[in-house]
Amino acid sequence: MTTSSSSNEDFFQFADALDAPVADDDAIPPSPWRILIIDDDEDVHQATLFALKGLILFERPLLFLHAYSAAQAKEMLLHETDLALVFLDVVMETPDAGLQLVGFLRHQAKLNATRIILRTGQPGYAPEHETLLRYDINDYKTKSELTHHKLLTSVTASLRAYDQLQIIEAGRRGLELIVNCSGGFLNQNDLRDFAAGVITQMAALLRTGTEGVVCAHHNDDDAPYTIVAAAGRFLPCISRTLAELDDPKISKLLGTALLDRASHFSKYETVLYFGDQKGWAMATYVATRTPLQSVDQRLLSVFSVNLSSALRNFGLVEKLHNDAYVDALLLLPNRTSLIESLSKMLLSAPSDDVLALVDIDDFAEVNDLMGHAYGDQLLKAVGKCLADEFGGDVRVARVSSDSFGLLGSSQCISYERIKHSLDRRALVAGQPHLVSVTVGMAPRSPEVHNGIDWLKDAGIALKYAKRSHRGRFAVYSQDMAQVARQRALMLEGLHKAFGDGHLFMVYQPQVNLRTGQLIGLEALIRWRTSTGVYIPPDQFIPVAEQSGLIVAMGDWILQTACRDMQLLKDQGLAHCHMAVNVSVVQFQAEGFLNRVVHALQTHHLQPRDLELEITESVAMLGREVVDQVLTQLRDLGVAVAIDDFGTGYSSLSYLEQLPVDRIKIDRSFVLKLAGPGGPRIAEMITELGHKLELKVLAEGIEDGTTWLALRGMGCDEGQGYFMSKPLALSDLMVWLVQWPAQFSAMDLL
Ligand code: C2E
Ligand code: MG
Ligand code: MG
Repeated sequence: MTTSSSSNEDFFQFADALDAPVADDDAIPPSPWRILIIDDDEDVHQATLFALKGLILFERPLLFLHAYSAAQAKEMLLHETDLALVFLDVVMETPDAGLQLVGFLRHQAKLNATRIILRTGQPGYAPEHETLLRYDINDYKTKSELTHHKLLTSVTASLRAYDQLQIIEAGRRGLELIVNCSGGFLNQNDLRDFAAGVITQMAALLRTGTEGVVCAHHNDDDAPYTIVAAAGRFLPCISRTLAELDDPKISKLLGTALLDRASHFSKYETVLYFGDQKGWAMATYVATRTPLQSVDQRLLSVFSVNLSSALRNFGLVEKLHNDAYVDALLLLPNRTSLIESLSKMLLSAPSDDVLALVDIDDFAEVNDLMGHAYGDQLLKAVGKCLADEFGGDVRVARVSSDSFGLLGSSQCISYERIKHSLDRRALVAGQPHLVSVTVGMAPRSPEVHNGIDWLKDAGIALKYAKRSHRGRFAVYSQDMAQVARQRALMLEGLHKAFGDGHLFMVYQPQVNLRTGQLIGLEALIRWRTSTGVYIPPDQFIPVAEQSGLIVAMGDWILQTACRDMQLLKDQGLAHCHMAVNVSVVQFQAEGFLNRVVHALQTHHLQPRDLELEITESVAMLGREVVDQVLTQLRDLGVAVAIDDFGTGYSSLSYLEQLPVDRIKIDRSFVLKLAGPGGPRIAEMITELGHKLELKVLAEGIEDGTTWLALRGMGCDEGQGYFMSKPLALSDLMVWLVQWPAQFSAMDLL
């Protein structure tokens, strides 16, 4: 072995005297130190080569690159990533070409660790001390100092400095990767970043090149061990299974470490195991150029303990993440997760993606009728059908209790495909359950800038579909948004009107069609805005229902109608009932029965003075609600009428069991009496009502002919403009007094 300086004895040797370790089968051939000589004088290149040829420093050979002008050097520097040292001539094309090149090397080529030895022929061109500091230049030599010994000392010091800078940099990068994903493994990419950070950090600790494999495994699943990160020659193996790693020896070492949950150290190989008892387990393989020292082993053990605790934290974070982003019942991504996906998608290049909201029709009814356990199973079945059909390219999420979100290319998502996925395939308790869904779709639009707004658009389309295309679908449009905005404005106005007393009640008389005698008064609400415009209840009642305002409003209606009834009774004007319309939402609200009782008591009315008009949708709410409320009303003595009969979808057998007193034939059927098809439906309803021993009242009688036709078919009672429009209380009082005479004059008997 030939050594040159005693102080450098430990660090370098010449190639012709290599020691055994480098030749060891296990060792990776060491990569050379890359050194660039920049000089316009060919002799200087040759002299440098001659002085340093065949040298091995810190077990790595030297590789020389040559540039003969600053321009050529710039070109080369831009392509270098691991340049250890530059010998740089100060005077080339211009007197300071070399010095300018230093700036280029640091700033443009971004080679911050590369060491620089400046050389000049004339001592007068020596750079100032300040320049040496500013550009981080290692050494400065005149060309006369190109002797073997001086060069060797200088090169050795520079390469050692370069190596240390590299280690610090690699360590910093590795830590950065690890720290960056310390928020937890939110997805597979984070796990990869963490693992890549581990390789880089280990390589820095072991002062070796970044070359290694990380294999990870989640203790909860049966999937094979997978390679999550790799560097150097192993790079192509990422995402393969451990068995597919094309080096069986390394594969075996990693597998054993994962099974034994233990690290393994040999002379040139380190397999570091770190894991969390329950969650992730990882094993990292790194080959070293130099035999592992015991101090390195200790360092790695400490490192491994730290990583294990990091993984444990990740396990916790992963669980928290799951709780926040995964629906616990269906194990599908939840609303929050979908919104994040939508927002992320909006950051990517424009695409034809569409968001579909799939809402199960009448889910609440199924839940009420069949019980919550059945409801849960139905949801699971629908979730599975959708995931089976669309899984993969389409993201399937549960957005609310009975609605799902599908996000993906519009080529993949269509209403037909959604329907098809559910046809006969939704099995609940082994039995097929016919599922009807309504779908709202919102294609990606340049006007939408975040996930919440996108979801809102799909929600608007769904609401629209629910109202007018139930069991089918609607695609979001600007018009729908306009309607939704108008509804929001209407709700705001309604709140204000309710508070400011701009709502009032009117009453429409109901009479016996045979005797003309008054049998009831229907209370109908009116909204007159401050500008004098009347807004029809058909428009604002649904808005009040959707917002829940109807509960407070309905209570006020009940109180007002009862108060006015008491007034009429006190004056001896009304020997009949007061009929009050009740919305489904009101009916279902807690304490409804108590409110009714309270209104009666407050105004000293008897239960028989009151009738509640419900629609068929109330009747369809399900046994539980009906039994609880309708039966109790009946027991109390309050009458119940089914309003707008024939327009809903209640089954006849069900109707038979309902505790009600009266059915009201909807005005649309009364209107048709004179048309083709004529009185058929009105007759059928009348007959049905009588079979069930119910009174039958026809709405919308506008003339005497209609009155007579209805009476002719046996219809008991009626109301309509022919008798009277709905009237304010004072007008009603006048009407009540005049009516008997008016009826006689009609000569309908
Ligand atoms: P409804 O309960 O079926 O009320 C009957 C509707 O028919 C009333 O419309 C009434 O003014 C109208 N009408 C009565 N006779 C005739 C006629 O001969 N010809 C014509 N063209 N129309 C007639 P209104 O007051 O606009 O109410 C519409 C609907 O709004 C009501 O239908 C009811 O569903 C709802 N509504 C009205 N007031 C209330 C209320 O106080 N509470 C609740 N929950 N809903 C209400
Ligand atoms: Mg009514
Ligand atoms: Mg009606």
